Amino acid sequence: ADPSSDEAALVRVAARDYDKAVRVPSEFVAEQAIVTTKAFDAWAEARSKSDFSIFRPHLEKVLELVRKYITFFPPAEHPYDTLLDDYEPGMKTADVQAIFDRLRPQQVELIKAITARPQVNDKFLHKKYNEGKLWDFSAAITKEFGYDWNRGRMDKAPHPFETTFSVDDVRITNRFESDNPLATLFSAMHESGHAMYEQGINRDYERTSLSHGASLAIHESQSRLWENLVGRSLPFWEYFYPKLKKVFASQLDGIGLKNFYKAINKVEPSLIRVNADEATYNLHVMLRLELEIAMVEGKLQIKDLPEIWNTKMKEYLGVTPPNDAQGVLQDIHWSGGAIGYFSTYALGNLVSAQLWEKINRDIKDLDDQICKGRFDALLGWLHENIHQHGRKYDPQDLVQKVTGSRITPEPYVRYLKTKYSDIYGL
Ligand code: ZN
Repeated sequence: ADPSSDEAALVRVAARDYDKAVRVPSEFVAEQAIVTTKAFDAWAEARSKSDFSIFRPHLEKVLELVRKYITFFPPAEHPYDTLLDDYEPGMKTADVQAIFDRLRPQQVELIKAITARPQVNDKFLHKKYNEGKLWDFSAAITKEFGYDWNRGRMDKAPHPFETTFSVDDVRITNRFESDNPLATLFSAMHESGHAMYEQGINRDYERTSLSHGASLAIHESQSRLWENLVGRSLPFWEYFYPKLKKVFASQLDGIGLKNFYKAINKVEPSLIRVNADEATYNLHVMLRLELEIAMVEGKLQIKDLPEIWNTKMKEYLGVTPPNDAQGVLQDIHWSGGAIGYFSTYALGNLVSAQLWEKINRDIKDLDDQICKGRFDALLGWLHENIHQHGRKYDPQDLVQKVTGSRITPEPYVRYLKTKYSDIYGL
């Protein structure tokens, strides 16, 4: 078949999935299921007691299995390649390292410049906000974005996520944190970004290997685009802020649009990845990637992990976790054996900015449209260029096809510099 046809893509992707699946013996899969199930419980207990020693023997076993998993595959340039490929098909460890090596010094420099400037006031974001009203507001935003509620819904859960049952049933969850109430709005934007991707995949691919997104990074580029490039932008709030102010008149009393915009974009090096701002987020990921590679290479002993974690946090972000719960134990991923996953979060950020530059070349008055609450051209562009293709293209090829280059950090750095120069007067 024509290599660019859906039929050829289907055979290619199905063959790859099949080959990967049959290489791994079923006894191993069973053992891994048992080990990670126990490791998850141990991790949850260790985190709640902030005691790494509870998790340590389990993580050692998980790592042993991860290293065994690698041996089922043909030797790669780097053993970590095999793990990365499960989340980001075709991506090599050396590629990610090269991207991060270009990105890291620029982000560190930017954060230094920001922290030398007076901090923005965001006290009003931490007042009491009514949960139900925030919930309704976040639902209204996703509706205006174009998330199809006839084929979706939003329910409450301990952690925000998106899940797909079919192209006609793509759901999201959301939560309310009383100390960080407006996170409900941004989580809804984030998860609806994932959901609109899944809702936009070509119907012909339904129930084939081509359904679902191209990779974790491409998926995350969609959620980040709606959450950050759109949802933390000034044009977006020019439209939504008057509405928000109507609902939360007392909380936002005396706070102008520009101050609100600055507050939701406050940069502050912090301990917890999931709460990190756009300027510091990627550093959390780079730290994890380095540690994972060292673990896979056998250069890092699990018993030394908390100490190395804390040293690196100090080096990268200038903060030291007061305990392991807020340090090495904060993420769920390793307990489930998901080593190789983290870098896709940072790559997603990079892709979102790369796409954004291209979108702004193609839709010249995008900011004006967003100011007026119009998102149809934007969503249409994403459907056309990204969503409809599902898994037809490998992530790097898709990015190349759409933007003219493979994944590169420069657009993201440009985006951060422009944004924070304005906010912090750099
Ligand atoms: Zn996400």
